[in-house]
Amino acid sequence: MNEKERFDKMNIDELNPGQKATGFINIEGTDVMFPVTVIVGYEKGRTLLITGGVHSAEYVGIQAAIELSQEITPEVIKGKVIIAPLLNVTGFTNRTMSLVYEDQKNLNREFPGSVEGTLTEKLAATVVKELHKKADFYIDLHCGDGYETLTPYVYYPGMATDEVVQKSLEMAKCVHVPYRVKSGTASGGSYNYAASCGIPSILLERGQCGIWTEKEVLEDKEDVYRIMDTLGFSNFGIENHSFEQREVTDVRYPEVPISGCWYPRFEVGNIFKKGDLIGTIKNYFGEILYEYYADMDGVILYQVASLTVIKDGPLVAYGHIID
Ligand SMILES: [Zn+2]
Repeated sequence: MNEKERFDKMNIDELNPGQKATGFINIEGTDVMFPVTVIVGYEKGRTLLITGGVHSAEYVGIQAAIELSQEITPEVIKGKVIIAPLLNVTGFTNRTMSLVYEDQKNLNREFPGSVEGTLTEKLAATVVKELHKKADFYIDLHCGDGYETLTPYVYYPGMATDEVVQKSLEMAKCVHVPYRVKSGTASGGSYNYAASCGIPSILLERGQCGIWTEKEVLEDKEDVYRIMDTLGFSNFGIENHSFEQREVTDVRYPEVPISGCWYPRFEVGNIFKKGDLIGTIKNYFGEILYEYYADMDGVILYQVASLTVIKDGPLVAYGHIID
C-alpha cells in the first residue's frame, strides 16, 4: 500500500466500529501531510486524541505514539483513539530540532493558527480542525528538545473551565513523574488551546537531548494506558504508579539575553534557593558576559545542555515547588 492510497482511504469520521486505519492528513493549502492512525472500538464511546512531534526532535514522545498506534486495537478499547505521532514532519525529515523547516517557527507558539498563514500557522489550523475538534480528551507527548536536558514532568491547563481543569488534573495525576505544572496560558500551545476550547488535556514531558530509550518509551506508553483506563477507554490494568507528584508553580522561562557559551550550575531536577546562581554565559575567551540568578526557591525542570546558547532562545525553565 503506498502513502497516497492510505491518505485517500483515511477519513476519520467515516470509519466504522471495529475498524483501524492508517493514513495521512493534508495540511490545508499545502502539499505537506502528517501521519495518523485511528482505532475505533466495537463499543461506542468518547474520543481520545494523542499527538507527538509537535517538536520534531522530541523522540521519546514520537516513538511512544508510533508504538501506541501499533499496539492499540479495536478489540481493547471503547470509543475512538486518534494518534498523530509526528505533527512537524518537515522538521523531522530535515532534523531542525523543534522548528518547522520552511518558516523556522515553533508550532507550540502558533495555536490556533491560520489557514492564511505560513506552513506552521496552517499546520496549527489543520490540527485544530482535523484533530482537536474530534476529541473529548487530549494527550500531547513531548520531551526535552535536541539540545535540552529535562526532568520528567506533566503540564495541565489552568486557563479553562473548572470542569476541564479538574478532569485534566485527574489525567495528569495518572502520569508517573515527580512534578506537575499548572499552565497559566490558554493559547499558543496545542494542548492548552484545546483545553481553552473545552477538551481536558495534558502535556507529558519525558526524555531529553535528541535521545530516546526503550525504558522512556515504555513509561510514556504506560502513562497513556493508565489514563485510558482512568477515563474508561480500556481495561489494560496498568498498576498505579507510586510517585507522590509535587505541584510546581510560577514557572519561569527566561530567554537568553546574549549569545555565547552556557555553563549551567545545576542538573535538571536539582533544587535550589532564591538568589542561587543558575548558570553563566561566557564569551569565546572564557570571560563572563552574564550570570543568571534564581528569583525564588525552586527546581530545574529543563535547561539548555548545548555549549551554545542563542539570543532570545530558551535558557532554562524552573518553578517553585508547592509543599
Ligand atoms: Zn516540546
